[in-house]
Amino acid sequence: MLRVAVIPGDGIGPEVTKEALRVLDVASREDSISIEFEELPLGAAHHLKTGEVISDETIERLGEKDAVLLGALGDPRVKPGVLEKGILLRLRFHFDQYVNLRPVLLYDGIPSALSGDGRRIAMRFVRENTEDFYVGLGARVGKGISKSELVLKRKAYEAKFDIGVDLKDVEDLAYQIGVVTSYGARRVLDYAFELAKAKHSDIVTSVDKANVLTEIYGLWREEVVKASERHGIMSEFQYVDAVALHMVRNPERFKVLVTPNLFGDILTDLGAALQGGLGFAPSGNINPEGVSMFEPVHGSAPDIAGLGLANPVGAILSAALMLDTLGHSDSAARIEKAVQDVLRAGKHKTPDIGGTTSTSNMGDAIVENLKKTSC
Ligand code: ATP
Repeated sequence: MLRVAVIPGDGIGPEVTKEALRVLDVASREDSISIEFEELPLGAAHHLKTGEVISDETIERLGEKDAVLLGALGDPRVKPGVLEKGILLRLRFHFDQYVNLRPVLLYDGIPSALSGDGRRIAMRFVRENTEDFYVGLGARVGKGISKSELVLKRKAYEAKFDIGVDLKDVEDLAYQIGVVTSYGARRVLDYAFELAKAKHSDIVTSVDKANVLTEIYGLWREEVVKASERHGIMSEFQYVDAVALHMVRNPERFKVLVTPNLFGDILTDLGAALQGGLGFAPSGNINPEGVSMFEPVHGSAPDIAGLGLANPVGAILSAALMLDTLGHSDSAARIEKAVQDVLRAGKHKTPDIGGTTSTSNMGDAIVENLKKTSC
């Protein structure tokens, strides 16, 4: 029995999550997977009514689940960041979801931002999710001497930085610290190499900028070499600027890419454009030994909320990613195939790619295909 918490959230979140749940319902019945869902009403409405973002008790409840399926968070009535940081980031850190998995798969029938028909884009980005330049350590100092004590606290380690700055000649200076630890790199690299094995890829591409940011990405590279040896799979090093170039000119060359946090954030949005737009992009925040959370890459898109215009494919593929991560890869593959079939047939297209199919009709088409192929 899988226990899954569902947070439909804000904006288009509830609409796309509804379709993902319908697909999961059919897939799990066909494959005899028993899933117990618990829906949690977190998001703007809950926050505006109660003043609460997420309670400790809710987090504790989530800790009893196998996974969390999330729609989207964010609402114009709430200050930007309150819900996104208060829920998403809090859960990401609480459950130590150190892998951000973002498959970039271009399906037939979908217009990519790239020209040329029949492109075979199938990249899987494994983005480190807890370190690098996103540790939130930095300061702004004025002229003269100033001291800051910055602390990085993680479940497995703690680091204190005592930084003194003696600023001469200019008024203001700001700095931000990037952190890579051997521990943080090793665990995400192990995940990437395991993924390469599972997806029959003989090479993992490591993305960095070790020619300029020599310290943190120097350590990252050392760990890549060790992980490559540990797993018996080749690795290659690519600078982030070269990867951006190749993603546009020849994305077919990449299979599994592993990247530090910041570059992963940027490149995967480029990836979303290559796979047809935000509406098609799934993601997982994964702790292989803990509670993982799956969500479409898009936000709450308040401009189209409630109108039936949202593309539910990213949410449906996120549900498939959840099944895959929880050990039901056959079932996940069946959902992906149903999505692929419907998109290839070209009869159903949501407005984001120039069609008129509504959110629920897109869900219907995928559910019907899934039922047909399972018979
Ligand atoms: P956030 O800051 O919450 O991540 P964002 O600024 O990235 O949000 P989104 O809410 O993801 O913005 O969406 C940007 C625009 O893309 C939306 O306003 C909407 O028009 C379009 N969009 C996003 N997701 C979808 C979808 N699933 N289907 C159709 N259009 C979408």
